[in-house]
Amino acid sequence: MRTSAAAGTAPDHEVAIVGAGFSGIGAAIALDRAEIDDWVMIEAGDGVGGAWHWNTYPGVAVDIPSFSYQFSFAKRSDWSRIYASGAELKRYAEDLVDSHGLRSRIRFDTKVGGAAYDEEGHLWRLDTDRGEVTARFVIGATGVFSQPKLPDIPGVDEFAGTTAHTARWDHDLELAGKRVGVIGTGASAVQLVPSIAPEVEKLTVFQRTPIWCLPKPDGPIDGARRWALENLPGAKLATRLASQLYVELTFPLPAHFNGVIPLGKQGERVGRRFLREEVDDPVVRDRLTPRYGLGCKRPGFSNEYLATFNRGNVELETTAIEAVTAAGVSTIGDRLHELDVLVLATGFKVFDRGNMPPYPIKGRSGLDLEEWWDENRFQAYEGVSVPGFPNLFAILGPYGYNGASYFQLIETQVRHICRCLRHARKERATAIEVTREANDRYFRQMLDRRTHQIFFQDTCADANSYYFDRHGDVPLRPSPSVETHWRSARFDLDDYRFERRLSPAPAGSHR
Ligand code: NAP
Repeated sequence: MRTSAAAGTAPDHEVAIVGAGFSGIGAAIALDRAEIDDWVMIEAGDGVGGAWHWNTYPGVAVDIPSFSYQFSFAKRSDWSRIYASGAELKRYAEDLVDSHGLRSRIRFDTKVGGAAYDEEGHLWRLDTDRGEVTARFVIGATGVFSQPKLPDIPGVDEFAGTTAHTARWDHDLELAGKRVGVIGTGASAVQLVPSIAPEVEKLTVFQRTPIWCLPKPDGPIDGARRWALENLPGAKLATRLASQLYVELTFPLPAHFNGVIPLGKQGERVGRRFLREEVDDPVVRDRLTPRYGLGCKRPGFSNEYLATFNRGNVELETTAIEAVTAAGVSTIGDRLHELDVLVLATGFKVFDRGNMPPYPIKGRSGLDLEEWWDENRFQAYEGVSVPGFPNLFAILGPYGYNGASYFQLIETQVRHICRCLRHARKERATAIEVTREANDRYFRQMLDRRTHQIFFQDTCADANSYYFDRHGDVPLRPSPSVETHWRSARFDLDDYRFERRLSPAPAGSHR
């Protein structure tokens, strides 16, 4: 690793934020508000917005109502729809960056390749492709859906036509009149498939596991609705509360308290009724019917996806794929689907090696975070920090996200981090490390709640869900949102050790 700061000198910045998606933006705004303004944001791409910068496939939109999918301190009443488009979310990110004066402190096109803790200097050395950056504290804000996953299908590189991944859409790609195959039926495919079906000659959707697809209470936020939102007293707040409740009832509560709150079964009834209403052919309907509990994996929300399978030019292929060949996709039994374009809607590395963490991270005594998680299972105190890795915080660490709005997660974790940093500043501490006891206590609490989670019921056996990691754990946070909020504001600061480096003066101590 190159060095720009010799051990013992002050770091380049007090805080380095890695990633300029909404997590990084939320962290930066909170740091400025806490008057911790000596931060730098490092972003691999050439723009802000994270998932909404990279994912631009046809039909891309949020699948959580926009009233919840936004920061509480930057609520908009001019979303064009209840579920905003990807382009609108990208604009929201741009607006936040400009209106909060963040842009000049973002280093674009800079990829972090590794991070190592300098124990003597109480600082992190980030190895980037544009040289080393040192910072007292690091906030990992790289999101979870950042590394597209290719399917482990033989011959996937041998297709002679055009191959595209939903997460890296090529806007020069012409689909009109083409024979198109889509592998995957996750949330991305649910949006893509109905968007491209009308223009292609033939669309073949290769499904391995059907997704629970629920109706989407979507619609334009037109003049009258918008007027009401902007002018009726309490309308914005009431809409936000209703939206938060809806989100809470559609994932975190039924998934984490399945044994207590039987909402999953009701949701499944809604899903089955929707299938009956939308899909004409009973054989196709049966193939689209999930055989696992709602909540075992992320459901889709769409008013168009299921009905797309009624179209004459759309085929649902559920026989397993054997290989991709130069001509197309062949399924078991030697049926070849000849294609011009192959779309991989095969998702992302999630709890996979190389994504958690997204680059090698070495803590105290060279302790490697990936190896530590391999040996000890994924764990992080409140989903934020790990013992042995001082001054390092994550927005989306293991057992941090409960499945509600991602913005709620960001605000919760950032509140936690800012409490630590403010306390460090007050104590003139230069190293903050969560204690092993606090981490172990939190991990035990999370595991103890498994009995009620849907993931550990038999109904999830056939779900093939990316929520499960290589240890068979589901490192989502089994908590209602109100609890995550409460704990971020009230966790005991004694769960951390604050240490002061005596000489020379720490960065930020002049303030
Ligand atoms: P995903 O949910 O991981 O779905 C990937 C799909 O590819 C699955 O259907 C999977 O089948 C299939 N697949 C993977 N490898 C395969 C193989 N070798 N052979 C056959 N099929 C294969 O990915 P995604 O749809 O991109 O969604 C990822 C996440 O992004 C979502 O869960 C959601 O949280 C987020 N997302 C959000 C929005 C939004 O509106 N906010 C939109 C899109 C995505 P199996 O199910 O059998 O594994």
